[in-house]
Amino acid sequence: MLATKSTKKLLNLRSSIIFANQDLSSGINRFGSSFSDAFFGGVNAMETKNFKNQRRSKYNLKNSRLETGIVLFSKENRRRESTWNGQKVVVNRLQSSLYMSPHNFSSQSSDTPIEDVKSKFFGSIPRFVKIVEVGPRDGLQNEKAIVPTAVKVDLIKMLVSSGLSVIEATSFVSPKWVPQLADARNVLEAIQNVEGANFPVLIPNLKGFEAAVAAGAKEVAIFAAASESFSRSNINCSIKDSLARYRDVALAARNCSIPVRGYISCVVGCPVEGAVPPSKVVYVAKELLDMGCSEISLGDTIGVGTPGTVIPMLEAVSEVVPVEKLAVHFHDTYGQALSNILVSLQMGIHTVDSAVSGLGGCPYAKGASGNVATEDVVYMLNGLGVKTNVDLRKVILAGEFICKHLGRSPGSKAATALSKIPANASKL
Ligand SMILES: [Zn+2]
Repeated sequence: MLATKSTKKLLNLRSSIIFANQDLSSGINRFGSSFSDAFFGGVNAMETKNFKNQRRSKYNLKNSRLETGIVLFSKENRRRESTWNGQKVVVNRLQSSLYMSPHNFSSQSSDTPIEDVKSKFFGSIPRFVKIVEVGPRDGLQNEKAIVPTAVKVDLIKMLVSSGLSVIEATSFVSPKWVPQLADARNVLEAIQNVEGANFPVLIPNLKGFEAAVAAGAKEVAIFAAASESFSRSNINCSIKDSLARYRDVALAARNCSIPVRGYISCVVGCPVEGAVPPSKVVYVAKELLDMGCSEISLGDTIGVGTPGTVIPMLEAVSEVVPVEKLAVHFHDTYGQALSNILVSLQMGIHTVDSAVSGLGGCPYAKGASGNVATEDVVYMLNGLGVKTNVDLRKVILAGEFICKHLGRSPGSKAATALSKIPANASKL
């Protein structure tokens, strides 16, 4: 395992992750935003000043407005400016009462100045994160029962209305391999006039690229693997052959000014080969970059990664690919996705793939559960004060819509928890 200076530094942050999670689970997070903000993104940045002025011990709740369990949040004058990392940001203000908690919470200990804590643990986290919603493609592709085209189109429209700006709409891989997405052309045509988001589509080769462009695709994605065995089982050819094929696609795409996103699967583990060394990911990433991919998404296809394996991989890849061009794509098989996303953000990555309601899986990777749920990612980012422009409530509605159709309960923990909030808390 690589253990350079920054790896060690990040590994030492493990305590900070636990620290943050504990706080996010309480009624008021460390940065003073209310539950309602953390749930639904009312806070654009961390409220600091307000709480700095009234630092108090975790156990000294007397004189605190939290003593009654009521968080104050006003309708008027909710927005004001503050500074975060030296930049002006708009923050919401806690004032009058809309949220009632049965518990008493403290948002912070009095021991450490909050600015120090922030810069120490969250200083490198981007202020804005782009979420790439992959539910309609990656999420649905392995569903056995064919989802009607109209349902797919409605799902995509609901996701657009939630503020998601990139939604991978479908795949032009042969229907023989992915029967669920045999209606790719119809889906793409139905959303041609939908504004507010880009709709990349997955393509396997030049033929797929041409079909996608003919159907109106303005962005495409190609998919290679870091593991030789997985490449052969998933796309039926060696890594080298797949890259040669994608070079033709990239060239054609450049001629039509179509951006190409490159996926790499099995970036930390392979269902056949086990652990995948970072050097294999570096090789594929460099090839994809050199052929002209505008973004490279690093996929833990079977969800086995932890920060312990993800950090060295990201560090190695970021040596050859600028971090602005990297995205992370985690599956939640072992419940590690959010931890892995958090460390990725700490390493400066600002593009995260996720699927509404945690849809998805992989037929070639036994036991691989779905993608990390978009709702859970948005919930965490809201709690961190990171802007996404995504309305959590609307993503939850989209998740409920597709889960109802598929006949299953939501795969997002945040959505499940929020659906249990009693009716009298609906003012959230
Ligand atoms: Zn996935």
